[in-house]
Amino acid sequence: MLAQRLDGVKPSPSMAAKTRVDAMRAAGRRIVDFTIGEPDFPTPPHIVEGGVAALLAGQTRYTASNGTPALRQAIADKLLRENALAYRPEHIAVGNGAKHIIYNAFAATLNEGDEVIVPAPYWVSYPDMVALHGGTPVVVPSSGAQSFKLTPPALEAAITARTRWLVLNTPNNPTGAVYTRDELTALGAVLNRHPQVWLMTDEIYEHFVYGGAAHVAPLNVLPGLAERTLVINGVSKAYAMTGWRIGYGAGPAALIKAITLLLSQSTSCPSSMSQAAAAIALDGPQHTVTEAAALFEARRDRMVQMLQALPGFSCAPPDGAFYVFPSVAGLLGRRTRAGQLLATDVDVVLYLLEHAGVAAIDGNSYGMPGHLRMSFATGIDVIEQGGRLLQAALADLS
Ligand code: PMP
Ligand code: GLU
Repeated sequence: MLAQRLDGVKPSPSMAAKTRVDAMRAAGRRIVDFTIGEPDFPTPPHIVEGGVAALLAGQTRYTASNGTPALRQAIADKLLRENALAYRPEHIAVGNGAKHIIYNAFAATLNEGDEVIVPAPYWVSYPDMVALHGGTPVVVPSSGAQSFKLTPPALEAAITARTRWLVLNTPNNPTGAVYTRDELTALGAVLNRHPQVWLMTDEIYEHFVYGGAAHVAPLNVLPGLAERTLVINGVSKAYAMTGWRIGYGAGPAALIKAITLLLSQSTSCPSSMSQAAAAIALDGPQHTVTEAAALFEARRDRMVQMLQALPGFSCAPPDGAFYVFPSVAGLLGRRTRAGQLLATDVDVVLYLLEHAGVAAIDGNSYGMPGHLRMSFATGIDVIEQGGRLLQAALADLS
């Protein structure tokens, strides 16, 4: 019944973790949830009101497949204003989330056996989306000593004649790594030698940078790559709009046209009222974004402090996004009271969920075993409660 294309494709681990927490809560368990990456506060009221106003004004019909002219203009204005990138609305396609555009970009460009370079640790969906379209994800590991960043020699070594894309996610999910101008320049020098390789820049966490770190749009530093770059972004994280499902890609006309073809044959168009609300988010006041960033920075600091006090955890403060990616190597080899060995990060996640009621995601799912991913897009009280529960569960290990 099922297509061979699905062989080996996993469900999204972050979505699966959320489903598991929801099910445990429905069964009456109290769970401190550090899994899913989404702001815990509602969409700002002026954006919600804009969506409601659009509904009442009758914006309830199909729109253009690549998004309404108003939203694509708002995106073009945003890219110029915030990222100094000049795109015309016809070089932009809007989808049901950034994830949808990434998916369709791979669908539009990959032939059987084409390779896509995915630096690890990576957002869980890139390798599976590549595999779903017949591509081969080429995972390039990094180390904590390099702040989990792709280095030019590692990139050079991974490129072959079949390489179609490099996916660069800055700020990074799950490590929070933020690429600097110099690092981007050095990676660009490698890409300049390999014209067959396109660059996908996933900048969805651009506004959440901490401690003086700054987001640099890769194309700012590497304008010569514009004709082979797809810029990915969306409103989910910046405006707490994960459920509205609006994301976008900006790139060369032929690629945007191919993505639009797939959109027209699959979803027809993104939700009309969500598009109206997203345009208001991008065109309107931006203070809610700055406030959210300040809130996340305070939570980051508390989360890192909490984790650094835990035996067996080692956690560097992330420069961006809203995740920490601590090493739990210090817990491996320990035993639970029931005598079970904690051999891997997956065992640690299961133990903490069962015995502490604290939910995290295993680093293995992000291509980097021995770590956990924990989201700090949650209240300080939740972070502190999680800390107390984790301390108690870890004290029980021998
Ligand atoms: N890229 C990264 C790195 C993400 O963490 C997410 C979050 N799901 C997305 C893209 C997609 O976000 P959305 O589909 O909600 O726009
Ligand atoms: N990006 C979020 C996360 O990593 C949302 C879930 C997803 O789409 O994977 O938790």
